[in-house]
Amino acid sequence: MARAFFSLFLVLSIACGDDSPSDTPTADLGPGRDGGGTDGSVEPTNRSTPEAYIRGAHPSLIVEVDVVEGVAPRDGVGELMVGALEPLLDKAEGVSIRVDETIPAARALDEWTFADVQALALETFDEIGPSDAAVFHTLWLTGRYVESEGTILGIAWGNRYLAIFADTIDGACSGALPLSREQVCREAEAAVWTHEAGHVIGLVNNPLPMATPHEDAEHPGHTSNPDGVMYWSYEGPSFIDGLIAGGSGPSFAFGPESIADVAAFRDGT
Ligand SMILES: [Zn+2]
Repeated sequence: MARAFFSLFLVLSIACGDDSPSDTPTADLGPGRDGGGTDGSVEPTNRSTPEAYIRGAHPSLIVEVDVVEGVAPRDGVGELMVGALEPLLDKAEGVSIRVDETIPAARALDEWTFADVQALALETFDEIGPSDAAVFHTLWLTGRYVESEGTILGIAWGNRYLAIFADTIDGACSGALPLSREQVCREAEAAVWTHEAGHVIGLVNNPLPMATPHEDAEHPGHTSNPDGVMYWSYEGPSFIDGLIAGGSGPSFAFGPESIADVAAFRDGT
């Protein structure tokens, strides 16, 4: 599976109309990006690879979070993401979220290209924590992503980095009624973060081998199971609409096919 698939996933394109580009193709950034493979090509001591995240050699996983001044995950969002991710992983000492540094607002942009986001990620990812802990990176950003058409709530790349566009999520969930708005926004943040974390650990076919074929051919990197959090339509307006409607929004659960992929890799089967 030496697949050159260190792609930029265009996640949760929130539509303004029915002709939205919510199915924007994955932008293949081509080979050569960093990020762990599963073909033995990575250093066994590397703390930031799918193998490190999933298998037990590193007994814990740290999600290092760097936030732009003024934004942060809402209360409870991290717990929801960890609650979805942790059961898949062989981490005797669990998964933890650590907010590392606050990025000055002056360093943030109103409009981000991929190069901008990647530069900030490289600048701020410190691989915190003990050397035996696996670690991946989350940027929590203001501004909006302008690399592609559509409204992008989050991106992941390199099996190491993800970025959440907090202002954009706020814009998408702001249509909820006041009494439920905070809950809708919280669930939207959690779903985006969980989805992106799934890409970071290697889902779908990125590059974790699939236990059974379930990659959506039209949306590479995503599952064909509409009930799983790795489904592409989490990129679309129905996701937020469902949350706003109440009760019909997503769970944060990975589908059984994605869970099986991780389990097979975790257990070496
Ligand atoms: Zn995605």
